[in-house]
Amino acid sequence: MTDAPLQLFNSLTRQLEEFQPIHPGEARVYSCGPTVYNYQHIGNMRAYVFADTLGRVLQWRGYKLTHVINITDVGHLTSDADEGEDKMEKMAARENKSAWDIAKFYQQDFERDLARLNVQPKQHPRATEYVEAMIAWGERIADKHCYELDSGLYFDVSTVDDYGRLARAVTDDGEGRIDTVEGKRNQADFAIWRKTPAGETRQMEWESPWGRGAPGWHLECSVMGEKLLGFPFDIHTGGIDHREIHHPNEIAQNQAYCCTNGLDDARNSGARIWMHNNFLVERSGKMSKSACEFLRLQLLIDKGYHPLAYRLMCLQAHYRSELEFSWEGLQAARTRLMRFVRQFDDLRASVGSHLKFLKEHADTVDDAIRLGTPLDNELTDPAIIGVLEEFSAAIADDLNTSAALVAMDKLIALKRADQVQKASALLTMMEVLGLDNLENGGFLTPSNLRIRPKDAQLTEAEIEAELLRRKEARAAKDFATSDAIRDSLAAKGVEVMDGDPLGWEWRL
Ligand code: AMP
Ligand code: ZN
Repeated sequence: MTDAPLQLFNSLTRQLEEFQPIHPGEARVYSCGPTVYNYQHIGNMRAYVFADTLGRVLQWRGYKLTHVINITDVGHLTSDADEGEDKMEKMAARENKSAWDIAKFYQQDFERDLARLNVQPKQHPRATEYVEAMIAWGERIADKHCYELDSGLYFDVSTVDDYGRLARAVTDDGEGRIDTVEGKRNQADFAIWRKTPAGETRQMEWESPWGRGAPGWHLECSVMGEKLLGFPFDIHTGGIDHREIHHPNEIAQNQAYCCTNGLDDARNSGARIWMHNNFLVERSGKMSKSACEFLRLQLLIDKGYHPLAYRLMCLQAHYRSELEFSWEGLQAARTRLMRFVRQFDDLRASVGSHLKFLKEHADTVDDAIRLGTPLDNELTDPAIIGVLEEFSAAIADDLNTSAALVAMDKLIALKRADQVQKASALLTMMEVLGLDNLENGGFLTPSNLRIRPKDAQLTEAEIEAELLRRKEARAAKDFATSDAIRDSLAAKGVEVMDGDPLGWEWRL
């Protein structure tokens, strides 16, 4: 099999570019992480499903991946610009906790959601651990690029070439609007350091050459990206909102720091490729963090959906397209995932004895299937090679996961294919898309995908035990008992589905 070159859309050059690693054999990726003052909504999580899928694709293509998702634990302000209240301190006051406790709590919650979505482990540097480096960065650029006001140290965007080349929506009153801070030289100038107002004390503040205060938000990503990945690194990702203010400001700081200007040299912007995922939208406003029950992964789980059904839902859209959330859409994604998982489950059951290397290399069928993925050497079935090539070509085309999923549908529809090769090919595809694993490292099984709302009256084990009893009664032609079990389950909200072609067998 030959792999087509990996083409990725670079928001900075506004075109598809072939991925060429800066360090041979390596891929270094920085993804803007959350501000941990609250739970993440499922829209935020779309950004990390995208970033993780990108990372998996790079690994599949043989690159050694270093991937950072930072944690913004310094409260930046309630607007992208430099006005408003400090989010972290505001939440701390509301919950009657320290800002540090707030950050710790929501970081843990975020990391739990990442694991549930099968996002591979990444580095999670915290901004508060890099404040010294941020001050040093500020000192290096202050003379040539910054000016001081009562409220802090500001970056003068007119001191770099091409400010805002990345942004699309910057207009006087459009998406890129920046609130005015009195004394700013240009409307787009932004804070490198925010001084604590005289007479006030913040929970999170540090001494600096510009007075006691806290770093500006944009600075942290520049600093952590440079420290952990080195300039230039390969790919910088974030949600599409970051294309307008946060990333242009990061780029301006990077230009200043690199002491050279034009953006045609990748080093100056910090990264070679800038990628942005489009938004998950929800028309009724439930995704707003100010909504009382906003849409977060836990809510989906409480309603009985497996988190990977949400991951698949994200993958069904191209990352650069807007995706509308609906429960029907989530349900459809779950059904599709169920088909993959059932097929994989059946294959695992049937191929074990055929795997010639089972004894030599692996103790279990699952290990053998995992090990059986050096597909280039093993694959001989032309039908399977064909769908794998289709899958690979879709991924190479700017991560067209929705087309890749169609190739997966075709794979599972192959009736007379070699079972071992089919299992290996399916596992490869599931691994690339991050649909392979549960949090505990086991494979997804059909029972993981049953709808099991939090308020269900029976546990899965109880239902399975009853169904087994019913099966035995039917085998013994004791239809009275069989019907009684069916009725008693129905009374507890469990519908038994005899002869269901998808093999779900029961639903709540
Ligand atoms: P924030 O904590 O607001 O900085 O957001 C964390 C990440 O989620 C950033 O990359 C945002 O661009 C991204 N993001 C925010 N809202 C959405 C959304 N509705 N859909 C997709 N990504 C989003
Ligand atoms: Zn960032």
